[in-house]
Amino acid sequence: MRAASLPEVRKRVIILGSTGSIGCSALKVARDIPERMEVVGLAAARSGAALAAQAVEFGVKHVALTEEAALGSLRGGLPEGVRVFAGEEGLVKLIEEVEADVVLIAIVGTAGLRPALAAIAAGCDLAIASKEVLVMAGEIVMEAARRKGVAVLPVDSEHNAIFQCLEGREAGEVSRLILTASGGPFRTWSKERIAGATLAEALKHPTWEMGRKITIDSATLFNKGLEMIEARWLFGVPMERVDVIVHPQSIIHSMVEFIDGSVLAQLSHSDMCFPIQYAVTWPQRVRNSLRPLDFAALRQLDFEAARRADFPAIDLAVEAGTRGGTLPAIYNAANEVAVAAFVEGRLGFSGIWEVVARTMEAQAGEAGGSLEAILAADAWARVEASAIVG
Ligand code: NDP
Repeated sequence: MRAASLPEVRKRVIILGSTGSIGCSALKVARDIPERMEVVGLAAARSGAALAAQAVEFGVKHVALTEEAALGSLRGGLPEGVRVFAGEEGLVKLIEEVEADVVLIAIVGTAGLRPALAAIAAGCDLAIASKEVLVMAGEIVMEAARRKGVAVLPVDSEHNAIFQCLEGREAGEVSRLILTASGGPFRTWSKERIAGATLAEALKHPTWEMGRKITIDSATLFNKGLEMIEARWLFGVPMERVDVIVHPQSIIHSMVEFIDGSVLAQLSHSDMCFPIQYAVTWPQRVRNSLRPLDFAALRQLDFEAARRADFPAIDLAVEAGTRGGTLPAIYNAANEVAVAAFVEGRLGFSGIWEVVARTMEAQAGEAGGSLEAILAADAWARVEASAIVG
């Protein structure tokens, strides 16, 4: 342990996706540790009134909304002197014009990619929740951050756990990253029953409260597949050293096995405020009002192998992450289309896996994808997957 403490820093944070599940947890953290976190910019897609209320509460002077039709509800709730940026371009302008230490990307899907690159270019640390961005363009984002000398701080609880376990370690000392998975609501269901699962059943996550898309991804295990690819880029390890274990209580958020056989794990209650706070205050730890673990009350932690044959999302992720290039973008985009079709009642639950597998088969992807090739593959996969959905 260090004897001398580091000076207390108050981080200026821009939150993209502030009206969503992660965004609201980030604002909870800001309420909890106001002396260490100042919110300086907020952005959402269409929740204008909610965004305005957040700006008023935190005294934020710069906000962005991508859906121009919702600008009226935003402006109506804002006091004089707050600057509003509009459209997708507005997210980038917000980052360019506001001085910040950290930009938190908490937007669903791949819309966070351009803002993430803009944050790096502006010299801000990137706290990243949007796993789709790293899945699609992890190599590009990590290389841009390395060149600019800024940190990429994972917010996804599994990657935040691994990030904490790896601190101070050499890459050569790591033998395996072990991502934990709750197993989702269908962990104990038969394959036949899973095939007919309804939207309401898929939205009942056993341990986490999250946005809709990620909750459905947790039921198919696409969430874990996306996280495996995300881990591969964030920590620079080959896919064969990224493993998954089902841990239904979601108390261990992930583990790292080292070459000497020791395993380090990070544990806490399943509350996204833990990883969000660590990403914001890193490299420091700050006292908060979050509930610590009571091991005597927990009594036991369980583990079981993932049912890879019944939840093909994992093996498809291994294939996409191993072959790399544009294939991870195709995996991600096809899943987004399939999930949307399932939500709208146009596709059965097991159809989500089928659509992604068939889209990946239709184009195996290019090796070493440039940003242009990745964006083109993303667009192609959306058209192809929509055609497969029919
Ligand atoms: P939500 O659906 O709850 O919230 C999404 C947020 O992003 C909303 O604020 C929404 O605004 C905004 N948004 C959506 N599209 C755009 C866009 N094109 N431009 C600007 N803002 C946009 O999602 P979550 O918070 O659950 O997830 C966010 C990301 O974090 C996802 O990538 C997810 O995979 C990841 N993640 C989430 C976890 C969780 O616990 N929820 C855990 C780990 C990772 P509006 O309200 O106006 O629609």
